Order: sequence, then C-alpha cells, then structure tokens
Amino acid sequence: MVSRRELARRLESVTDFEAPSADLEQYLTPPEIAAHLLQFASLQDDLTGRSVVDLGAGTGMLAIGATAFSPTRVVGLELDPDAIVLARENERRVDLESAVAVDWVRADATRPPLAISEATVVSNPPFGAQNRHADRPFLESARELASVSYTIHNEGSQAFVESFAADNGGTVTHAFQATFELARRFPFHEHASRELEAEVFRIEWR
Ligand code: SAH
Repeated sequence: MVSRRELARRLESVTDFEAPSADLEQYLTPPEIAAHLLQFASLQDDLTGRSVVDLGAGTGMLAIGATAFSPTRVVGLELDPDAIVLARENERRVDLESAVAVDWVRADATRPPLAISEATVVSNPPFGAQNRHADRPFLESARELASVSYTIHNEGSQAFVESFAADNGGTVTHAFQATFELARRFPFHEHASRELEAEVFRIEWR
C-alpha cells in the first residue's frame, strides 16, 4: 500500500484546469486532501476490491488516486469534455504502478448512466458557490450508486449533509475538515490566494 505522503507527492503531477469554468466550479482538489481522503477510505476498507465512482472527476485527481488501492474498477464521470482530455493526460502523467485504468465517461453526474449500486463514490462536487445547493444532486447520485460515499463540501455543510443523509436512508459515519489553498482563479476573486475550509463526509447508504 502506498503511504499518504507518497501518494500526495505523486498526485502533485496532476495538472490543473487550463481555463477553469466558474459555472461548473472547476477546482483542483489539492493533492494532500485527495491523498488524505483516499488513504482514510482505504483504511475503512472502502477501496480495495470495490467499484469506485468519481462524480465530477475534473482533472482526475480523485479517480486517478483511487487506482493506487487495488479497486476492481474506477469510473470518472465528468460533464466537460476538455476536462476528460486533461484527466486522461493526467492519468498517463501520474505514476502509480496501478493495474487498473480509469474508465472516463462524459456524462452528467447528476443523472449517472451507470448500472452500479454498491460502489464507493468519491466526489468533490460543485460547492454551490455559483449555484446554491449544487452539491445536493451529487449526493442524490451517491445514494443511487453507492453503499458508501466520500464527498467534499464547503464549511458549514454538516447539518445539511446529515439531514440529507437521514432523509435518504444514509448515516454520516465520519466527518473531517480540510483546508484548500486556492490560487486566484476567476476574475471575481479579489485576492491572489485564499484559504477555504472544506468538510469531508463519509456516508453509509442502505
Ligand atoms: N475532483 C476534481 C474536480 C472538482 S471540481 C479535481 O480535483 O479536479 C468539480 C467538477 O465537477 C468539475 O470538473 C466540473 O466540470 C464537474 N461538474 C460540474 N457539474 C457537473 C455535472 N452535472 N456532471 C458532471 N460533472 C460536473
């Protein structure tokens, strides 16, 4: 098993979006956070021997990282065709010595065209900064596809995520904080960089 530090180091070669779309809320998941989430999921026995689905795979950061933990299959769902091209390049660039190749699928993650029901979902969905509650349909997809999911949300989402889970046959079993260091990306950002507190939730679905 690859260590968290080593995984984070290797994921640093994942290249960021060239022209990120504000509407789609395209943010690279920082390698340390991806490695933390995936390492934690591996310790919970949620990756090895499982089907893993990344909803809104973007640069491929989470999907590519997941291949390091001997899943049976990894699917990366993404709406933006340019992001899929980038994710494929990133998969070639990152050396994880994995036997599993990601299936990149261009699709709407809120209506996933997959006949999978016991997957592990990993997702850093749009937070809803541009469109309020843009993360809700991603949780609905996680419920449909997964027996367990890991999703990243903005600070202050715990009550929302817990009540969504409770209303939909799920239970939040773990939650932790993660700090995003964001470089200025969009013209409406006022500062060169800023920190964003994010929250990661593990949900078990029945
Ligand atoms: N974890 C990824 C991306 C996070 S940003 C990374 O680290 O790169 C959120 C991603 O969700 C973006 O790539 C965006 O294009 C994608 N996205 C937004 N709405 C979507 C939808 N309805 N279906 C599929 N992907 C979507």
